[in-house]
Amino acid sequence: MKRRFDIKSLVRENILELDPYSSARDEFSGSASVFLDANENPYNTPLNRYPDPGQLELKRTIAGLKDQAIENLFLGNGSDEGIDLLFRVLCDPGKDNVITVDPTYGMYGVCAKINDVERRSVLLTDDFSLDAHAVLEAVDRNTKMIFLCSPNNPTANSLDRDALLIIIDNVNCVVVVDEAYIDFSSGQGVLSLLPEKQNLVVLQTLSKAWGLAGIRLGMLFAHPDLVRYLSGVKYPYNINALTLKEALAGLGDVKQAERWVSEILEERENMAVQLKSMDVILEVFPSDANFLLVKVEDPGRLYEFLVNRGIIVRDRSSVPLCEGCLRITVGSPEENRLLIETLRKYRSS
Ligand SMILES: *Cc1c(COP(=O)(O)O)cnc(C)c1O
Repeated sequence: MKRRFDIKSLVRENILELDPYSSARDEFSGSASVFLDANENPYNTPLNRYPDPGQLELKRTIAGLKDQAIENLFLGNGSDEGIDLLFRVLCDPGKDNVITVDPTYGMYGVCAKINDVERRSVLLTDDFSLDAHAVLEAVDRNTKMIFLCSPNNPTANSLDRDALLIIIDNVNCVVVVDEAYIDFSSGQGVLSLLPEKQNLVVLQTLSKAWGLAGIRLGMLFAHPDLVRYLSGVKYPYNINALTLKEALAGLGDVKQAERWVSEILEERENMAVQLKSMDVILEVFPSDANFLLVKVEDPGRLYEFLVNRGIIVRDRSSVPLCEGCLRITVGSPEENRLLIETLRKYRSS
């Protein structure tokens, strides 16, 4: 289904009228021998210089790797910056609403709250699958965004692609598909659909498969008009020089990231088998990500037991549909072995 979709009709009036800040590096970005335009210190190269506010070199690299046009790419200080900017560009506080499908990543709700935007929560079904019609029923004329996380955190499963498409094709708002864990998934994701789905926003990150959570680099893929609005609202130099450098270095070694991912996937399957064989573990949910959600009898007690032995997992037992559940990240083979060994001592303790 191909519909005319006008991003502009969703953007806040004040943002449509915004005349973005223009920095020295925006006004001249070519090469020259003497730069006296930005009040920088002439010493301490290269860190004395402001970084490229348009992040062109890094964007070219990512666009190439992801087979996307540069105009479709926005880079943020983690995915979290992209999420927050979407709220600030699209949602009128006190008037508009967004929909999250829970349980899911907490930042969507936190950003909604901070921006004084109503959040409507639709639950996944009991087996963690996406009920597209329940989501569509929650939409009204003030709905600006729907957040869908696939593979989903903390339930670890991918959402059904057809259900995602039903939502994307039947709303007049932005649909944000958070693919932070897509590199660990057996599914293909929705990024390749970007050219034909004008209301689609896809989030990916260097924080997981690329092993670069410390540098804070999130990728947001969207319609070029939306990317322009986001770029006009971000801090001019939101990606610092150190992050640009390390991101380029990390992305230069695709083989390394692939090796990490395949080791983590192998470890995930090993761990799932071992955990399933244990009496303390009532259920290991299928995972398409780099973590396992497991159900146990007494999550609080098991959590404390592990903490006391220096192993930290995430207690998700207070989250809807995750009663009794702990979330365990897949670590190195050595870390995973320690976890399993420690769990074996749990019953007898
Ligand atoms: C880890 C994670 C991210 C990554 O966030 P960054 O800010 O890029 O580190 C995004 N979305 C979900 C669902 C996550 O679990």
